[in-house]
Amino acid sequence: MENEFGRFGGQFVPEIVVKALKELEVAFYEAIEDPAFMEEYRYYLKHFVGRPSPLYYAKRLTEELGGAKIYLKREDLNHTGAHKINNTVGQILLAKRMGKRKVIAETGAGQHGVATATTAAMFGMDCEIFQGQLDMERQKLNVFRMEMLGAKVTKVDSGTKTLADAVDYAIGKWVERIDDTFYLLGSAVGPHPYPTMVKYFQKVIGEEAIQQIQEQENKLPDYLIACVGGGSNAIGLFTEFLPHKEVKMIGVEAAGLGLNTNQHAATLTLGKEGVIHGMNTKVVMDSAGKISPVYSISAGLDYPGVGPEHAYLQDIKRVSYKAITDKEAVDAFLRLSRTEGIIPAIESSHAVAYAMKLAPTLDKEKTIIINLSGRGDKDVESIKIYLKNL
Ligand SMILES: *Cc1c(COP(=O)(O)O)cnc(C)c1O
Repeated sequence: MENEFGRFGGQFVPEIVVKALKELEVAFYEAIEDPAFMEEYRYYLKHFVGRPSPLYYAKRLTEELGGAKIYLKREDLNHTGAHKINNTVGQILLAKRMGKRKVIAETGAGQHGVATATTAAMFGMDCEIFQGQLDMERQKLNVFRMEMLGAKVTKVDSGTKTLADAVDYAIGKWVERIDDTFYLLGSAVGPHPYPTMVKYFQKVIGEEAIQQIQEQENKLPDYLIACVGGGSNAIGLFTEFLPHKEVKMIGVEAAGLGLNTNQHAATLTLGKEGVIHGMNTKVVMDSAGKISPVYSISAGLDYPGVGPEHAYLQDIKRVSYKAITDKEAVDAFLRLSRTEGIIPAIESSHAVAYAMKLAPTLDKEKTIIINLSGRGDKDVESIKIYLKNL
């Protein structure tokens, strides 16, 4: 069993899935050793996704807060408006290389489903997305988007009818047609090798940022801040900086209505060690050890587990994890929009909110990079409703 994340990670799945994961692992390591594969991956990142994304100095926000200099890593400027496409491009190229004809994926709010359907369309592959019934009702526009892109969206009506059940369902469907089907997982979660593979395809964020900050500041940053749902945008920013011990890192989870309520998704802050979706990690559970429903205004952070590497990085105290409430995130959403002309995703707004607390406590020589994981156009409607109901 893999132990790159200490006691976290692993493969807690039935025997038949272990076989498929082995095939995937072998193909993945072969692919990333193949210069032709990596060249193709970089080609699509540049010409289809639009990389590199800028590292933008948020001058007005910095001046308003009166402390550390704030930089934004602009993943919101990627095609489809978030970091998720970095991973779907990598995995779909791998699927193609493995001779698979069909990709399947789970989705919660629909962001990963849209990114998957987009890359599947580009490569002319069959695509089926599994989405909880409740999520389908809440995210009608994304369902339509996926269908426009040529994907079939299949309703999952088991359990909570949301993301956690869509993942289980997708794994089950994968097992049924493993020969011609590739399971394209959307975050740095699940059984090995998924967390390692998703990190690999997302670490381009930090690889660019470490160069960009040195060009602009002539030194490494003091802090990195990223929101954590499953943990893929955060690990994508952090990885290249991990060997640099002087760079402090903060992952920001959703505190929802508050850490003292049961309406949150603060897995690393309040969760316990346990198994979910084929991995050993931290999980939000009740006193009987049953996985609890989680809540956040942000659909992308609304996940009861977390990538195993984050559980490990917390354990060894390399990264610290904080939680931000709905209210703090909405305030940050509005403030960044007004001061910088950038409407952040409500997920990313959690990272922005924590930076707004931290920056004024630091002196002006310090620098912070916030991973702006996505753009907020998708959230405008729900923010409007939130503000109306205050
Ligand atoms: C999905 C999503 C997230 C959360 O996923 P991670 O795997 O934790 O990065 C964060 N921000 C945006 C914009 C998303 O779409």
